[in-house]
Amino acid sequence: MTDHQSPTIEYQTHSAEETFELAYGIGEAITEPTVFLLEGDLGAGKTVFAKGIAAGLDIDPAEVNSPTFTLVNQHEGRMRLYHLDLYRIESAEDELRELGLEEMLNEPNAVVLIEWPERLGKLVIPGAVKVAIHDLGGDERRLRLWYTA
Ligand code: ADP
Ligand code: MG
Repeated sequence: MTDHQSPTIEYQTHSAEETFELAYGIGEAITEPTVFLLEGDLGAGKTVFAKGIAAGLDIDPAEVNSPTFTLVNQHEGRMRLYHLDLYRIESAEDELRELGLEEMLNEPNAVVLIEWPERLGKLVIPGAVKVAIHDLGGDERRLRLWYTA
């Protein structure tokens, strides 16, 4: 699950609404615990994507914002959603243990969305779906998804 491997799917969107709709469709199809690793620079659209996933889980997307100060936000829909933004964490291992990431990953009915997964360091999450969003200028974004076993 690195950039050296070809993405499973590649999309190009032309507006925030289109990115939202794309993620909504993916969210709607989720029936099992799933982890999304959302990569991309500030303003790429990670939170827009997170809102779409949330909507697909019957969570009000207006509730979903970058959880910058709390590191993790929890939402209840037809599944539980944990939305993490690791941008500001310093020592991944300690803080993630305190946050209870391990427990989140082991919940039977939870979706975990992680913005800035680069901060996970050496921690590998088996089966996670990587999403890389690139700003192509204006409202154009390229989204690449890697699904792994
Ligand atoms: P991030 O969480 O990656 O820092 P946000 O999702 O908070 O970024 O913000 C993305 C910004 O880019 C929003 O203001 C959104 O309206 C805008 N935007 C413009 N075009 C797109 C697009 N095609 N997809 C997603 N967001 C877009
Ligand atoms: Mg964000």
